[in-house]
Order: sequence, then C-alpha cells, then structure tokens
Amino acid sequence: MDDKTTEIYNTIFGNSIIFLKRGINEIVTSNETLTREQSLVSCLFIQMSLELGIKAFLIKESGIKTILKDKYQNRTINNIFESFENNTLQTKRYEDLKNYIKENQLTWFGDTHFEHLTQFQLFRNKLVHLNLNLQSADLYDLKYESIYAIVHLIVPLLSELSFEFKTPSEFYAEHLNDNQYKQLINFPHYVEEMEKIAKEFTGYAYECPECLKHTYSPENGICYCCNLNFKEGAEFINCKICDAKKAVIFDPLNIQLNDNMINGLCLNCGDKPNIFKCPDCESKRTFYGQNELKDTCFDGCKNI
Ligand SMILES: [Zn+2]
Ligand SMILES: [Zn+2]
Ligand SMILES: [Zn+2]
Repeated sequence: MDDKTTEIYNTIFGNSIIFLKRGINEIVTSNETLTREQSLVSCLFIQMSLELGIKAFLIKESGIKTILKDKYQNRTINNIFESFENNTLQTKRYEDLKNYIKENQLTWFGDTHFEHLTQFQLFRNKLVHLNLNLQSADLYDLKYESIYAIVHLIVPLLSELSFEFKTPSEFYAEHLNDNQYKQLINFPHYVEEMEKIAKEFTGYAYECPECLKHTYSPENGICYCCNLNFKEGAEFINCKICDAKKAVIFDPLNIQLNDNMINGLCLNCGDKPNIFKCPDCESKRTFYGQNELKDTCFDGCKNI
C-alpha cells in the first residue's frame, strides 16, 4: 500500500477497533439478557465496527477503489486522499461490499458467515428504523448474534488470523484493556463460541489446565480462551478411562529425568494415569500398576 492508502486504512482500522471495544463493553457487563438500551447501543457499535472492518479488509485485500463509489474509479490516490481529508469520500453500501467479498471469494467465510452478516444488518435496521418493539426473544438472540459477529466476522476481518493455528486472544490482548479482555474471555457466550471454534478447527476441545474452560486443543497445544500455549512443552496420549483421544497431557521433558515415567492428567475426565514413554522407540502408554508396565514397546524395540 502507498502512504496515503495506508493512512486511510489505519484510520478505518482504528475506528473499527474503537467501535468494537465499545460494543464489547456493552455486552460483557452482565450475564443477563441485555436491556433494550444495551441492545440498541451494542448493536450499533458492533455494526459500525463490522462495516469499517469490511472496508479495512477490502482496502488491504483489493485496493482502496473497491470500497469507493463509481465516480472515484478514475481518480488518483492524491485526489481520493483529498476527499478523505475533507470528509467527503463516499463509500459503497454495506450490501455491495458484502457481495463483493462473497463473489470474489476473498475470505474463507462460508454461507453461514454471510447469513450472519445479513442477519446482523437486519437487527441493526430493526433498531434504527421504526420497528423498535423488540420482544425479549429478540434481545436474547441479539446477544448471541453480537458475540458471533465479534468472534467470527470482525476479528477475522481485522486480524486475518486462521483459527487452525492461532487464537484471537493476542488480538484482544493488544487492543482491549486488561479488564475488558478478562471480562470477554470469561463471558459464557464467548466461551461457548470458542469451544465450538476449537472443535471445528482442530477436532478437540478439552478442559484447559490454566483457565479451566473447555477450549483447549491438544492438536495445536493452545487454549482458545486464555491463550495458554503448550506447543512444545506438552505431549498427549489417549485416555483409557473415558476413551477421549489425545486427552491425557504430560510433560515430555521431565519424564526422562523420572525413569521415563510420569503422572498425566486427562483433560476430559480428570483421571491421572501413570505414563511410560520408551527412551528407545518413543512409544508411550498409560498404566495403573507396575505389572501393567510389561511389554510396553512394539516387537523389535531393544527396551523389551
Ligand atoms: Zn485456557
Ligand atoms: Zn479421560
Ligand atoms: Zn521402545
């Protein structure tokens, strides 16, 4: 990006974050259903953040002109920047920007994501137009919808992170203050979404040894809520008691100092089996008594 485009991008990105923070503030203050006032305010903040997030994403992905009305298509960046500074720059409608992303397959968003993009816009229209008579079910849905928009739409658009390898926690830690961050990662609807993400992207969601939420994946060693990262410091093995795959966590570094045996912890059922890891062939298994330790390795391992 050239300097002028970067400046426009940074402004839009920064404003998207401001509205995101204010939207999160409204939502996480209480575990109860949002009041009408909180609904109205949070929905508008989140929709603003979403619209700006889409624009920031498109500038980065396809250039500034993708978000601008037709009359700007032949203008120079200097001319566009002048309009930006005068606050007269006109952008395309939300609907058009959304469709542009969809038609050009610019994100990994699937049909569900686009349905939510539309749904959130409908809520916003309901709130700002005449239909202010929200039923209590609407208020309840709106809270879910808001969390969905934050987790699945705004943060991926602004951070372009891939949930397979990373959690959004770093993004929040960078942009939210400590208190907001803690409130968000302890907010029940948020935790539920993170549990779904851990399962969807890695296949597993077990209890995190740090924050005790069910958002820890042995596949990449990270917790989708508190950002605990055991990528190198942990190994996993199946649990014999509850049958959960890769659910028993153990410390592979200290096991060697401990005669190749150590206590593990099942992050699914809480069982604490002993674990043996063979120093020769590196095969590992859980056991409950010394007599179970016999024949640990496969045929051919010199440890037998
Ligand atoms: Zn955690
Ligand atoms: Zn278990
Ligand atoms: Zn062996």
